[in-house]
Amino acid sequence: MTLRQALVQARQRLSGSKDIEDPGLESEVLLRHILHFSRAQLYFDLNVKLNPDQESAFNQWVELRLGGEPLAYIINSREFYGLDFFVDHRVLIPRPETELLVEEAIRFCNSRSTSVLADIGTGSGAIAVSLAAHLPQTKIYAIDISAQALEVARLNSLRHGVTNRVTLLQGDLLAALKHPIDAIIANLPYVRTADWQTMPSAPFEPRQALDGGEKGLDQIFRLIDQLKGKVNPGGWALLEIGMGQAEAVTGYLNKLYPVASIEILKDLAGIERVVKLIL
Ligand code: GLN
Repeated sequence: MTLRQALVQARQRLSGSKDIEDPGLESEVLLRHILHFSRAQLYFDLNVKLNPDQESAFNQWVELRLGGEPLAYIINSREFYGLDFFVDHRVLIPRPETELLVEEAIRFCNSRSTSVLADIGTGSGAIAVSLAAHLPQTKIYAIDISAQALEVARLNSLRHGVTNRVTLLQGDLLAALKHPIDAIIANLPYVRTADWQTMPSAPFEPRQALDGGEKGLDQIFRLIDQLKGKVNPGGWALLEIGMGQAEAVTGYLNKLYPVASIEILKDLAGIERVVKLIL
């Protein structure tokens, strides 16, 4: 079978799944990863034949994808904030909307003195490693309750050469922080349990990284409770939230930190996505 035939066949098969938006693109990505080819190489060699091992590996991957396995887990890779991250079942796949959190954190760090910050619920380390790559003066704690997730964060920290400034800590939210720091960034689980149950990726991604309880706010509220004493005066926090949660989160923050400044940022889709708190 030639590469061209493999692509056509895969696209036809993937078109059968309602959860796959772009079967052509996904077929191409899968095939390129089997062959370790760039896009240009693939299109240059369309008449080349796959060897039997490549053909069976490719078919297996297409089969996995048809079973609902997310593409990023099959190829163990996801791009986030311009960097390529290793991902597998131990961690949530980084989402594009989370780039807003990173962008805002970089802007903030550059405009006020921030020498130590922490990424809470780091998962793959996408946020912590992207920040470290862009903020050479900043020391970053990457914290997760899952030891397995921290193994993945370690791989990514090594891959992008930031291990000297990223310290991995295992712990429940802020418990592992011994001293107050300048800033907290967190993309905690915030999906409502009922919504989580209907997510196509639910059987594949760690529930602990997505399910935030009945209203989705269990972990975010616990984190807000813990901020006092862990963030220096004048310090700040950026929290990613889900659609429709801004009011509840700002209400709770106002109650606990009445003099703090609170702002909501919208993502590219116009959804209130990040809560910014200056203590
Ligand atoms: N934005 C993610 C989703 O809807 C949820 C991420 C999270 O819970 N932190 O898939």
